[in-house]
Amino acid sequence: MRQYELVERVKAYDPNADETGLNRAYVFSMVRHGAQTRASGDPYFSHPVEVAGISTELKLDSASIITALLHDTVEDGVATEKEIRSLFGKEIARLVDGVTKLSKVELPSDPTRRQSENFRKFLLAMSDDIRVLLIKLADRLHNMRTLHFIREPERRRRIAAETMEIYAPLAERIGMQTFRDELEDHAFAELNPEARDSLEKRVAFLRESNTDLIDRILAELRATIEQAGITADVGGREKRLYSIWRKMETKHVPFEDISDIVAFRLIVSDVETCYRALGVIHTAYRMIPNRFKDYISTPKPNGYQSLHTTVIGPEQRRIEIQIRTPEMHEVGEIGVAAHWVYKQQSGDRLKSREGRQYRWIRELLEILEHASGPEEFIEHTKLEMFRDQVFCFSPKGDLITLPRGASVVDFAYAVHSDIGDTCVGAKINGRHAPLRTVLNNGDQVEILCSQGQSPDPQWENFVVTGKARARIRRFIRLQENSEYERLGRSMLDNAAQAIGQTVTDRAVAAISPKVQVRNADQVYVCIGRGELSCKAVLRLMFPELVSDQDTPIEVEPRRTTDGAGPIPIRGLTPGMAVHLADCCNPLPGERIVGVLIEGKGVTVHTIDCETLEQFADAPERWLDLSWDREQTGESLFTGRINATLRHQPGSLNALTMAVARSHGNISNLKITYRSPDFFEMVVDVEVRDVRHLTNIVQTLRTEPAVFQVDRVQS
Ligand code: MN
Repeated sequence: MRQYELVERVKAYDPNADETGLNRAYVFSMVRHGAQTRASGDPYFSHPVEVAGISTELKLDSASIITALLHDTVEDGVATEKEIRSLFGKEIARLVDGVTKLSKVELPSDPTRRQSENFRKFLLAMSDDIRVLLIKLADRLHNMRTLHFIREPERRRRIAAETMEIYAPLAERIGMQTFRDELEDHAFAELNPEARDSLEKRVAFLRESNTDLIDRILAELRATIEQAGITADVGGREKRLYSIWRKMETKHVPFEDISDIVAFRLIVSDVETCYRALGVIHTAYRMIPNRFKDYISTPKPNGYQSLHTTVIGPEQRRIEIQIRTPEMHEVGEIGVAAHWVYKQQSGDRLKSREGRQYRWIRELLEILEHASGPEEFIEHTKLEMFRDQVFCFSPKGDLITLPRGASVVDFAYAVHSDIGDTCVGAKINGRHAPLRTVLNNGDQVEILCSQGQSPDPQWENFVVTGKARARIRRFIRLQENSEYERLGRSMLDNAAQAIGQTVTDRAVAAISPKVQVRNADQVYVCIGRGELSCKAVLRLMFPELVSDQDTPIEVEPRRTTDGAGPIPIRGLTPGMAVHLADCCNPLPGERIVGVLIEGKGVTVHTIDCETLEQFADAPERWLDLSWDREQTGESLFTGRINATLRHQPGSLNALTMAVARSHGNISNLKITYRSPDFFEMVVDVEVRDVRHLTNIVQTLRTEPAVFQVDRVQS
């Protein structure tokens, strides 16, 4: 952007702009940055000019634009603070100093002490003058737009993580929605390119297959509003990819329709008309309960005002509509910056409003002054800013992003499976910490390993990532198998002795094909699990000694296959074959996803099913599904439970009666293990939904004959 263009832009919204100051700052910055270049190869000077340009979009005052032009001169050492003060005055010098201080705040991979010290400086600089933050956000936005030019992937990731962690939440906090959206989207592209790509493809597909839909909806909305005699600017805006992603993640809802990714907006002249327009919309279309929000009478803490509602709108599409005045719209888009626009008109009223809105910065500073230690302070501030992720670092500085609540063990598995399997302890920020410690933002984690160590089943109680859980489960299964093997071996030995015989591994291996397992070990495992009786095995080995009669009663596993009626699930392509997965037995009321298997159709799993791990690398095969509430009413689904009963008369009867009392129907039952005191069984029960099954499990827990009962999902 040329010098005169910038000046013209400022003068367009501020006729009293400091033209001389702007010109001098432009030239000063250009001369001082001289031959420096950016990663893109552009002259460095293009950056402060772009930042100034972004600041004009926010209609900031001349002092802010001048500061934007000068913002990197002191930090880059091409000018001194003294020079700035004598050439541009105290106010500009203070603003430049504030931006410079903010620039020094980095997402630290250093011990907590420096982290909180940085954060303190950050807040101090902001609390002085909110314009510092606005310019810094413009600076960050330009840096994010040009992030891809940076060659070192580590640096790109660090900057993106920092943007996600500090700048985007701050932008949101001061109501700069468009900034926040764009910052997050650039960071998303860097931190999770695969997810963003597949989301983008999906949105593009929806957009292409619905080219006229949005126009038709807009036309009908316009006609509806006009008929009621209201003048409104009716528009639709496609949501940013990251905000779609976040909504899917936090609210656990799939997006299935083009109307899910477009927000419709009515802009009307004044507050009264907002409510009248709302009345018209609610009269014309059925509203969806619990989705209406009145942010006009109760603005958000960041000053945002608007009416929000969701209706079954034109063409029977569920759509979101926001109703607001032009002023509210501007505040909604650029937040605090919008107040500069209305400065002239509203005068003093602005001051008090600003005071109220920025009280949180001062409150943070107060916590800082009174917090007993830096850790406590970080707790207070970052927790509020951060919702669902923590960013941690390896000793080398690699960024590991984990879901909130993740433990040291999750971190270890995220680094490498072997590191997870053999971890014995950790150092967090240089201090020893137990494996179950929950990690915080900015933690630097060093995992201590020991060869020959193996995963502890207890870990399952606190890990939160799928990868960690899957590995631990796998290990437990292996361990269980070896226990069953030992048990089966001793059971068979005892049974053989009873008929005066001994069994050898070789003899057992010889009959293993007849019971359809691979080898002797597997035969023992099956006996231990109760899937094969000793008698049946001995009969194969010593046909002359063991008679055919009085074979033990065994209920063979016989899973009812998928019910006759259609499965009431939304999000499927009509005609596609679908079945509920055997591993997790999903029930209505649970979050589900579909996996497309070539030649077999769609398998439906619960969202936390381990089997999904196998498809982690193939997001294109995942389908967002949900239960169709209106149609699940009649159908019954198979839930599977594992029960341990006391080995006493009437136990089984107590179980079946309890299930029947809870209106469940037992469709299958298999005894998996017997001992003199207990027997274990797997029971399939037909239920309406997950609550029904939970109810049955709870009822069984109250039965004295039932020692233990749990839902099976593996
Ligand atoms: Mn800069």
